[in-house]
Amino acid sequence: MALTEEAPWEGDARGTSARESALHDGILCRQSARESAARTYARALPIVPVRARGLTIEGADGRRYLDCLSGAGTLALGHNHPVVLEAIRKVLDSGAPLHTLDLATPVKDAFTTELFQTLPPALADRARIQFCGPAGTDAVEAALKLVRTATGRSGLLAFAGAYHGMTAGALEVSGGAQDVRVARLPYPQDYRCPFGVGGPRGAELAARWTETLLDDTKSGVPLPAGMILEPVQGEGGVIPAPDTWLRRMRALTESRGIPLIADEVQTGVGRTGAFWAVDHSGVVPDVMVLSKAIGGSLPLAVLVYRDDLDVWGPGAHAGTFRGNQLAMAAGTATLAHVRENGLAERAAVLGTRMMTQLRALAREYPCIGDVRGRGLMIGVELVDPEGNTSPALTAPADVPHTGKGAADAIAAADGAGAAHLTGAGHTDDLSADPLLGEPATTPLPAAPALAAAVRDACLDRGLIVELGGRHSSVVRLLPPLTITDEQAAAIVDRLADALAAVARTHS
Ligand code: PMP
Repeated sequence: MALTEEAPWEGDARGTSARESALHDGILCRQSARESAARTYARALPIVPVRARGLTIEGADGRRYLDCLSGAGTLALGHNHPVVLEAIRKVLDSGAPLHTLDLATPVKDAFTTELFQTLPPALADRARIQFCGPAGTDAVEAALKLVRTATGRSGLLAFAGAYHGMTAGALEVSGGAQDVRVARLPYPQDYRCPFGVGGPRGAELAARWTETLLDDTKSGVPLPAGMILEPVQGEGGVIPAPDTWLRRMRALTESRGIPLIADEVQTGVGRTGAFWAVDHSGVVPDVMVLSKAIGGSLPLAVLVYRDDLDVWGPGAHAGTFRGNQLAMAAGTATLAHVRENGLAERAAVLGTRMMTQLRALAREYPCIGDVRGRGLMIGVELVDPEGNTSPALTAPADVPHTGKGAADAIAAADGAGAAHLTGAGHTDDLSADPLLGEPATTPLPAAPALAAAVRDACLDRGLIVELGGRHSSVVRLLPPLTITDEQAAAIVDRLADALAAVARTHS
């Protein structure tokens, strides 16, 4: 039976036959016997997908799930969207070659044209594109190589909690690494602010730390080849960077001739409520790393950068699989569909609504420490409500945490008004930034076991979610941008039900 959006999308739409059960269990059993110990999602999600459409996945056992993992944020249009399938079929039926290295093809030409249409105009006007090996991590490698070649420098600036991929260079700039050529900088965050204050003050301190490192001749950080950042840290626990902070990073890098690399592998193509997450702030990066959704569910990764950086030589970054025609066709269809149907704006509306509902739940359940995100990139951090708070993470009593009071406190503490927060032609009143609205409350200890219990309870209720964050304590929602109001409500309902069940068991 074909799975359609009209078919019921509730989990367990029907019973499981003995044959289905045997097939399902046999495949899982062989997987655990034969596949690597390094496998990841497969451990927590004992599902054998056989059909999928939109938000829905059907397993070999006949069970149906709402898929809020979406291929780790890849499926902007959900599974098997008709425009994607049609684009793929068109290439197949045309007799076009499927493997073309980096040769020019009409399919690639159309993809590049569509992609450039979506870029910040100041970058699009002078953009070059490098097609990379098909994973995001390969495009990250290419970005690092590009800026090192262009600047003749080797050091890099990267952020605590970052995730950029699994190849050597990408790992160096990710949060877990210890590479001397990479200076690690604080990423602003409200709930677990490294300075213990969160809000505008926390973001301001994070920016100042970066500025100091760059300007202090004895900081031990030589002028770097580039700065790489995620506009919203995904794997790091769904932490949106305030627009004001991002503009500060742009101003700091621009004035010092440091290329700014925006890793939009996960945040791109409407996910955060703007086509590219940098669009929220108006920041124009020098380099953008793009993958996941740009391939319309098939593997594709590219690097887009300003033409003056294009000084590397032929073969500086190569790879056999840079010419995936099906991925380019599926990607063109996806980019055009998101653009033409205003799906970024839709993601913003749905995300705001879902986060409001989840914040209401947080008031009910003390085990929800924080609800945060942007657009349809949402995180719910689970904490131990009985746990002790760390004094270092507690905001000082005399610093107001949020809103106008915090801005006043900054001005008073600095002996200056908001003028010093201005960057790249914007007046950046940090107190006006909606992403800085939540107070830096006293964070409770992360509760990874509780988060895992919620994920499992979600699965029991036919909802697939991912865990992320420093301690794997953040339940992540990355639904397709195409979900209906009813589906969005069903996702929140199931998560609420799972939370209630886990809270009951653990109290
Ligand atoms: N950058 C970011 C921001 C990512 O989220 C990811 C993957 N989660 C990557 C890079 C690496 O992409 P890939 O897994 O395709 O190599």
